Amino acid sequence: MADQPVAVVGSGLAAFCAYVTLRHGGLEPGEVAVFGPTADPAHAWRRRADAISQRAMRSESDGHCFASSFPGLAIRTINRRSSLGPLVQTVLDRYHPTVEEFLDHVSALRARCGWDESLRPARVERVRAVGEGFEIDGQGPFAHVLVAPGHPGLARPAELAGDPRAVHAYEPHGYASSVTVVGAGLAAATEWLNALAAGATVVSVRRREPVRRPLNVPRSLLSRRGLGRFHAAPAAERLATLERVLAPSFPPSRHVDRVLADAARAGRFATAPSVNGSAQIICATGFARGYRADPLLSRLVDDHGLETAGHLIVLDPDSTVPALTGRGRTLALAGVPAQWAYPAADTLAGAKYSARRFLRRVRACRTR
Ligand SMILES: Cc1cc2nc3c(=O)[nH]c(=O)nc-3n(C[C@H](O)[C@H](O)[C@H](O)COP(=O)(O)OP(=O)(O)OC[C@H]3O[C@@H](n4cnc5c(N)ncnc54)[C@H](O)[C@@H]3O)c2cc1C
Repeated sequence: MADQPVAVVGSGLAAFCAYVTLRHGGLEPGEVAVFGPTADPAHAWRRRADAISQRAMRSESDGHCFASSFPGLAIRTINRRSSLGPLVQTVLDRYHPTVEEFLDHVSALRARCGWDESLRPARVERVRAVGEGFEIDGQGPFAHVLVAPGHPGLARPAELAGDPRAVHAYEPHGYASSVTVVGAGLAAATEWLNALAAGATVVSVRRREPVRRPLNVPRSLLSRRGLGRFHAAPAAERLATLERVLAPSFPPSRHVDRVLADAARAGRFATAPSVNGSAQIICATGFARGYRADPLLSRLVDDHGLETAGHLIVLDPDSTVPALTGRGRTLALAGVPAQWAYPAADTLAGAKYSARRFLRRVRACRTR
């Protein structure tokens, strides 16, 4: 029998969403151990959003960490501002909370959900299946474990390694008078505008024309029917779908189009096939990917001979690892490593997808 019911590995936003969901589902702080190096669940997120001066969330009103989707951040804003604007925009799927609003929400929720009480400050080296549960660096065993380690690091173009002009978009930086931005996603688009606003001339280097889409994954893929088709597809097709839908994209915006068109006319914005002589190169090239880039996940796969497909660990549709999940125990993934179960796993909505299914498993085992 496992000593303790539940552990969450990672202390970022996906872990936080899982924790809030577990608490909402009736678990007490003493029943959930959270292993992570930082106490602020928005720590990693805040640093990246700050680096690109993100002001508004890409997600909509339901992009929050509450256990239930409704009411979202729009309703909270209405209550505070006595304005119906956010509600109308929500109905139209157009309400994007500000980053400040989102971060205030995370702090307020953290203060009242017991998170700090459950936190065990540590970076985990190994999660190992033992009998009816899992040991986490020798602690436990825990019957149900959700692993949410986030991205394994930043991706940088190999050809720019050692180039002193290069900085990653998600690292703190200012803007030189001439800037090349490599990439075609939301971070790249944000950086074009930031650099132009700072007075720079900007060159955009990208392999393809940017995809314009409101959310990072098409909504149709996340419907019950869309997900059903995704889960039923053979591995190669599923990987190809992920490759296609997770290609860099940013939302359609007349404002962005107008700023870029004006800058292009003024000779301050252009595209180019490769990096040129700009004073600064900003790599808006996202994250390293795959379980092999994360020592914890890599060890998990090797220790237990887990099934993988391409760069991902194969999961059941409920985000659990089939070989390590059974009647009395659960091993689930959340955040970006859970894309095999949910293509938008690396969003707040995705974090909740895994969290709710994890809670269901924990509850099912408790009532047996
Ligand atoms: C700039 C930016 C803007 C975004 N905007 C939105 C948005 O508007 N809406 C939306 O829905 N999504 C958005 N996302 C996507 C998503 O919500 C974030 O990536 C979110 O931070 C993912 O949470 P996470 O917990 O998976 O990863 P993180 O927040 O990165 O947290 C992972 C945590 O796990 C810890 N960890 C890693 N390895 C271990 C280990 N071995 N042991 C213990 N702890 C470990 C890390 O230290 C970190 O604290 C955005 C992402 C970025 C980068």
